[in-house]
Amino acid sequence: MQQSDTIQRFIFDQKDIRGEIVHLNKSYQKAIHGHEYPAVIQTLLADALVSVTLLSATLKFKGRLSIQLQGGDTISLLLVQITHNQEMRATIKWEGDTENKALTELIKNANLVITIEPEEGQRYQGIVPLKGDRFNQFIEKYFEQSEQLPTRIWLVSDQQHTAGLLLQRLPEKENQIRSNEQDWEHFTILTETLKDTELLNLPNSELLYRLYHSETVKIFKPQTVQYVCGCSREKCENAIISLGPQEIESIKKEEEFIEIKCDFCNKNYHFDIVDLTRLQNLSEEKFQKNS
Ligand SMILES: [Zn+2]
Repeated sequence: MQQSDTIQRFIFDQKDIRGEIVHLNKSYQKAIHGHEYPAVIQTLLADALVSVTLLSATLKFKGRLSIQLQGGDTISLLLVQITHNQEMRATIKWEGDTENKALTELIKNANLVITIEPEEGQRYQGIVPLKGDRFNQFIEKYFEQSEQLPTRIWLVSDQQHTAGLLLQRLPEKENQIRSNEQDWEHFTILTETLKDTELLNLPNSELLYRLYHSETVKIFKPQTVQYVCGCSREKCENAIISLGPQEIESIKKEEEFIEIKCDFCNKNYHFDIVDLTRLQNLSEEKFQKNS
């Protein structure tokens, strides 16, 4: 059974461990639509989309969370973003041949950047060198290094669907003696038995029962995840207007039309000479007002 686009949290009774399961279907399709990504790029993107969704459950305020790989030898940029309403978007840039290359080769020398941007308040950014050779390991190492929170992530994808499971040990509360370490080991060993096809295809309740049937698991209501780019013709027009009337004039001299392609959703915005002249007039008005 293919599942819809959801994130669902769960906790274990009397244990300081939390978990989440993410399934992306339509949102994943939207992210890859029209791009014709090479297989290795598509898998990386799928893993990144699921990871950012898994991490979004930790957002405790209105704002945005981003995972970014930057400065890789072949893949210069991977950016996935999600808001507190679980609206996500993604873009990836690479140069050169990706065929027969392992992921580690493509992202050699890249850094992992995690950014949290609250609508109000201080922006937080953590940058660490990439460690490991799979995307789940990058995120696990990040948590280990910068948050000191033991975290395990399982990721899987095919052409239609992508899914992930996160298990995280919660920080210990003061003055509490508990068998935290043993619990953590116990639950990670149980989760290691998870098969890719199970993560991809089993309904969450069945999957949790299959893994943890001797434990009491509390499952929360699933939340819907969507791919929302946020680009618009109006935003493109404003970008053109802000170039200034002279710059628009020189574009008009060289081109019969211009096209602005959105990096996130691949949509093309076309502006012909008539559009450009209208925007040039608006630009003139704007720049006169400001001078
Ligand atoms: Zn767009």
